[in-house]
Amino acid sequence: MSSRTASCSCGQLRIQVEGEPRGVGICHCLACQQRTGSVFAALASFAAPFTAFGTATEYVRVGDQGARFIFRFCPICGTTVFHTVDGRNESVSVAVGAFADPGFPAPRLSIYESRRHQWVQLPPGMITFDRDPS
Ligand SMILES: [Zn+2]
Ligand SMILES: [Zn+2]
Repeated sequence: MSSRTASCSCGQLRIQVEGEPRGVGICHCLACQQRTGSVFAALASFAAPFTAFGTATEYVRVGDQGARFIFRFCPICGTTVFHTVDGRNESVSVAVGAFADPGFPAPRLSIYESRRHQWVQLPPGMITFDRDPS
């Protein structure tokens, strides 16, 4: 099975994941905008096993549906590399940009359309949700 490694910008915090992503999506919610500093987040979900290397600082944010998202970011450079949902360690969500791979599979899902910047245009065929579908 092929593996991929995502890294923070200084290289201290990395995560290795196996196989193809279970899903790739973008999220326009305001929390993701502030978390990333960008206008939307791009995330890829991978099934376990996954292996993290380096030191991560954790930040817990409770989602609109009550899930506890545990974000891991590098304490040196501040990049948010991955997150899990508390109690659900069978999968991990990794920031697509942290793979530094322009050939990474394109997103299929677009979440929180209600918060999308109007100038952001999506490719045809995306599955869209006005809010968090989970
Ligand atoms: Zn770093
Ligand atoms: Zn979001």
